Amino acid sequence: EVERTLAADTAPGGTSDGHLVALLANIGTAEDAERVGPTAVEGVGLFRTEVLFLERTTAPTVEEQTEVYERTLRALGDRKVVVRTLDAGADKPLAFATQPDEENPALGVRGFRLVRTNPDLIDTQLAALAAAQQATGARPWVMAPMIATPAEARDFAARARAQGLAQVGVMVEVPAAALRAREILAEVDFVSLGTNDLAQYAMATDRLRGELADLLDPWQPAVLDLVAATARAGLELGKPVGVCGESASDPVLALVLVGLGVTSLSMSAGAVPAVRYALRHHTAEQCRAMADAALVAGAAPEARAAVVALLHSSV
Ligand code: PEP
Ligand code: MG
Repeated sequence: EVERTLAADTAPGGTSDGHLVALLANIGTAEDAERVGPTAVEGVGLFRTEVLFLERTTAPTVEEQTEVYERTLRALGDRKVVVRTLDAGADKPLAFATQPDEENPALGVRGFRLVRTNPDLIDTQLAALAAAQQATGARPWVMAPMIATPAEARDFAARARAQGLAQVGVMVEVPAAALRAREILAEVDFVSLGTNDLAQYAMATDRLRGELADLLDPWQPAVLDLVAATARAGLELGKPVGVCGESASDPVLALVLVGLGVTSLSMSAGAVPAVRYALRHHTAEQCRAMADAALVAGAAPEARAAVVALLHSSV
């Protein structure tokens, strides 16, 4: 019953005092796009395109890719769609691109770094997205994963704009990028925080090691500091700073992220109604107070407890 009531709420995401925060879906396939299209999500904040590339012996052709991107864009109509370029390597090896024998694959040639060895992969993908843009008249956003420096952001932006893509961004999921968010944002139109990898790299903790979950916790004050630094840079430059890691799907943490200055939240589509409800019951000022409380806490459980204590009583 409660779930049905929540799902029936299709208003745009925002605080009770009208501060808007787009609530977006994370997807991995065109089928996912067709599934979330009819729901109340305000768009797609992360299309993990690597699904198209995994478990193949050769890269998908530009035509194959164009078809998938076209279907995805059509499924969302005029809503925002953020397509992430191939994030291979580490836990997502590719037979035709990544090295099988890297000693530290999470620190190796992964994400946008593949441009060093296989620039054609990224350029073909951008060309396919541009072709889908042309065919549909949609205006996709595009972003690169695993950016560590402003120079990498500049390189990606040049490649994407050369294809005619207009909304170009990068992920902030390496601590160096969060610490230099201002310089990175100067090169691109937006950034999106990947809190899964940001926590992994900030806490030096393998994201696949369940027994270390306490260290990987996105409530870790050090991780929140990096989110805060990135959001501050976005506010200063007047550019969007989203979150597309799992942290966005925790309704309590979502309030903190908004309080820190994050402008959109992307999550599994099923998590959107609860996040929308939590936001709707708090003002922007309350979210800021929660963010302040989380930042002064000494540890992750204390940060969460301090914020829970501030929750509006109707939630
Ligand atoms: C992240 O790292 O938080 C993220 C959204 O990307 P992925 O989980 O695909 O690495
Ligand atoms: Mg990531």
